[in-house]
Amino acid sequence: MLIDKGAIVYHYLRTKLHQRLANRQEVEQWQEERVRSHVRFVRKHSAFYRELWKDYTDAQWRQFPIMDKELMMEHFDQLNTVGITKEEAFAVAYQAENSRDFAPTIGPITFGLSSGTSGNRGIFLVSPQERRAWSGTVIAKMLPHSLLQKESIAFFLRANSNLYGSVGSHRLQFHYYDLLNPVKEHIERLNEQRPGLLVAPPSMLRILAQAKQQGHLQIHPHKIISVAEVLDPLVRKAIETQFEQRVHQVYQCTEGFLACTCSHGTLHLNEDIVIIEKEYLDQKLGRFVPIITDFSRRTQPIVRYRLNDILTERAEPCPCGSPYLAIESIEGRCDDIFYGYSLHDDRLRPIFPDFISRAIIQASEKVVEYLAIQHTPDRIEICLRVDEADEAGSRSAQIEEHITHAMNDLFLKINCKPPAIEFNVYEQDIYARYDKQGELTELKKLRRVERRFQLGEDTDPFI
Ligand SMILES: [Zn+2]
Repeated sequence: MLIDKGAIVYHYLRTKLHQRLANRQEVEQWQEERVRSHVRFVRKHSAFYRELWKDYTDAQWRQFPIMDKELMMEHFDQLNTVGITKEEAFAVAYQAENSRDFAPTIGPITFGLSSGTSGNRGIFLVSPQERRAWSGTVIAKMLPHSLLQKESIAFFLRANSNLYGSVGSHRLQFHYYDLLNPVKEHIERLNEQRPGLLVAPPSMLRILAQAKQQGHLQIHPHKIISVAEVLDPLVRKAIETQFEQRVHQVYQCTEGFLACTCSHGTLHLNEDIVIIEKEYLDQKLGRFVPIITDFSRRTQPIVRYRLNDILTERAEPCPCGSPYLAIESIEGRCDDIFYGYSLHDDRLRPIFPDFISRAIIQASEKVVEYLAIQHTPDRIEICLRVDEADEAGSRSAQIEEHITHAMNDLFLKINCKPPAIEFNVYEQDIYARYDKQGELTELKKLRRVERRFQLGEDTDPFI
């Protein structure tokens, strides 16, 4: 494991220092300076961006064309500043992923593969300097106390990646857990390690919460951090109940480390490393798609890059006093926005995933698991598992009725025709697959609300 304590400590202190930026104006002024110097660097070293921005000055960076994953992959070879081609990067990346080896590298450059359906996967290059900066920043933002105190950290990752492999010293003990190793093995190791800090995707935290409930897992971490996936309210409840504490969140993707929770449990954007512009979907509700500019990444510059997530601003300021934008919720992917036929003109209108989730969860306390799939604008399938501790049978029928009502109300409120709703049983572990020996073979991202049809070319997605 690569250890570079000096660089980590440097970035740790820098992050702590920036946490002292007192007000919004100071933050924005500082960001503006950083982004302009970043743009100068990128123009000089990336042929693709140089061409893309040729009609704009550095100060006009907010008018640069918006990037997304597709564009980034299309122009990968000309875009990165280290001369790696897409072909060689994917070849090495897939080979490493299949062998479940360490993350792939070409020279000193490490890659991260972003999730997505095949053909829609992104690849992101990271230099050793960027890796160290990342480590220092994450540590500064997540550690419950100072770098000088001892801490034992359990870190669950999808394949042991070099991207995360650079943190470790005699005070900070990082223990890595490959998400796809047998759960039984994780439990044994965890019981032995007794981590103070537990970091894992919510789907794994939920499995660990079950193990704790059954008495197999005997750890008492003082801080739990959910990473890599959106933390669903039902999963959160299950984890918090078993571990008897609040679950913290890190909102991070291969594109960057974007937000994390403060001591009050509020998510704040990491505006000391990224600028997040808001493309509003609904300004009144504070819902927006983030356009990120990460001025700490030089290898594969991310400038005005649109993510696929939907964020909601927090209406009230957070009591912690941080000048960084507070986020109420992250609600998964734009691709999963449902649509209904307008009552007036039959056009399609968007219905945010969060509305669908709330209609289902609030219909009954007994809903333990659910999955809502929209097959067509007038047909929704809801898979349900309800807590049947008391009198089963009739109760699920009642819950289904409540949910149908709630969904009808929701669609009517948005002036849409209520869809036909069919109910099915939520199969055990739609998201975790086990082989015949009961060992975990696949852990998919939890996705509660899923749209399975494509919008027509002429549909305006956000009317
Ligand atoms: Zn806060």
